Amino acid sequence: MEEQKYNQTKAEEYVCTECGADVSLDDKVCPKCGADITELEEEKQELISQVPTRFKTLLGIGKFIAGYGWLIVIGGIVALILGVSKLDEPIGIPSLIWGFSAIGLGIFSVAFGQSIECFVSIEKNTRETTELLKAKSQ
Ligand SMILES: [Zn+2]
Repeated sequence: MEEQKYNQTKAEEYVCTECGADVSLDDKVCPKCGADITELEEEKQELISQVPTRFKTLLGIGKFIAGYGWLIVIGGIVALILGVSKLDEPIGIPSLIWGFSAIGLGIFSVAFGQSIECFVSIEKNTRETTELLKAKSQ
């Protein structure tokens, strides 16, 4: 019975700083060596909440740029369709040119925004991992 309960919580397990045994979130002490692990949990939560807000801001900017990029792409496609359907009219060619430019600009914005998001995510993960490893080895 005890064994089964242990396995169910495995997904959220951490490692005991004293003996290296797997411990679950619910444990107050290490099931193997009896070390107090409530501190480890508190420390972990603290570190996660300490992720600098500048990461969040940058992530927001990246999402914003990428989101607007998609809108510009959609606008460009509309202009392109309009240009094609009214090719005989004076509005046709400018609409086509505008459409192509908008799509190019939009795709560039999406790529730019997503590369910011990607870069920030990597930075954030690296930082979190480093901090957690530092906390564990203390
Ligand atoms: Zn232990």
